[in-house]
Amino acid sequence: MLALLRSGHRCFHQSKQLPACYHLSSTAGTADSRHASRPSPPPIQVLLTESAGRGVFATRNIEPGELIHTAKPIVSHPSLSSVNKVCYFCLKTTPNGFHIDQQKESFCSEECREQAKGFYEVEKKADWSAFVDHCRSRALKYPLLAKRLACMVISGMTSAEGLDVLQPALLSAEMISLMEEELGLLRDALKGAGMTTEQLTFLTIEWYAGVLARIRINAFRIELAGGSYEDLLALAAASVESEAAVGNAVYMLPSFYNHDCDPNTHIVWVENVEARLKALRDIKAGEELRICYIDASMSRDARQNILSNGFGFECRCARCMSND
Ligand SMILES: [Zn+2]
Ligand SMILES: [Zn+2]
Repeated sequence: MLALLRSGHRCFHQSKQLPACYHLSSTAGTADSRHASRPSPPPIQVLLTESAGRGVFATRNIEPGELIHTAKPIVSHPSLSSVNKVCYFCLKTTPNGFHIDQQKESFCSEECREQAKGFYEVEKKADWSAFVDHCRSRALKYPLLAKRLACMVISGMTSAEGLDVLQPALLSAEMISLMEEELGLLRDALKGAGMTTEQLTFLTIEWYAGVLARIRINAFRIELAGGSYEDLLALAAASVESEAAVGNAVYMLPSFYNHDCDPNTHIVWVENVEARLKALRDIKAGEELRICYIDASMSRDARQNILSNGFGFECRCARCMSND
C-alpha cells in the first residue's frame, strides 16, 4: 500500500466552484486570539488558483511554527483495528473509556459521548456485522465513513448534502456497480434497525457514490502524535505505515489545501481527530499555503509516480521543477 498522508485521488481538471457563502469558521490558536474576547478568524482565505482549483492563501505574514488554524472533521471513523482502542467519536486513545451497553465502542469523555449521541442512537440499534465483514474482508475503510454519515443524516446531525462542496473523484461505472452491494448491506442494517422508508429516502446509489467519491479524494488518514513539535516533524518525514492510523476523517477547510513536495504548512493530529495546520517556515501575506499529501522523503520519480497515479496530477512544485 502506498504511504499516503492524504489517501485519495485528486483531479484538478474539473472546475472547482467556491461555495456561495463559505465562511472560515475554524478559529486560530495564536497568542493574539487566545486573549481576545472573540476568537479572531484564521489568517487565511480560500481563493481560486490559476491551475489547481481552490487554494488557501495567507492574509498576513505567518511565522514558522505558528498554529494557523485547527479544524474539526465533518465526519470521522476509527479504523477497524482501532475500534477497541480509541474514542468512538474523537479517536483519542482510551485506556479507560466509557463503555456503553457492553458494546466494544467506547468514548473518552462524557462530552464525546454527548456529541456522538445523535448518530450513535441510530447506529447502535442496527446489526452491522454483514457490513463490517464486507469492509474487513476487502480492507475497505471509506464505507465506514459513509455509514457514519448516513447515521448522522438520519439523526438530523447533518444534512445529506454535507459533503457536496468538496471535490469528487471520478468513478467508473464498474466502481459504482461494486458500491451497490455495500449500499444494500447499509440499507439492510438500517431497515433491520427499524428505520422507515421515509427516513432512508436519501440513501440512493447516487448519494452513496457521491459521498464515496468525495471521501476518496478528501479523506485524511489520522495518526496521533503526542509529544513535542519536533516529534511531529519527525513523524511527517517518516514513511508512514497504514497500521499506525487510528482512523480516517474528512474536513472542510483542510481539503482546500493544495499539494507541494516542499510544503510550507503541515497538518498534524496531537491527541485526537482535531486537525492542526502549522506553518513550517516564514510565509508571506498573499503566499499560497500548501501541505504535502505524500511521504516527502521519496525521490522525485517516486513522488511524481504516486501523485500522478494516486492523485491524478503532475506535480509542478519548485522542488519537482528543480529535479530534486
Ligand atoms: Zn473522545
Ligand atoms: Zn512536487
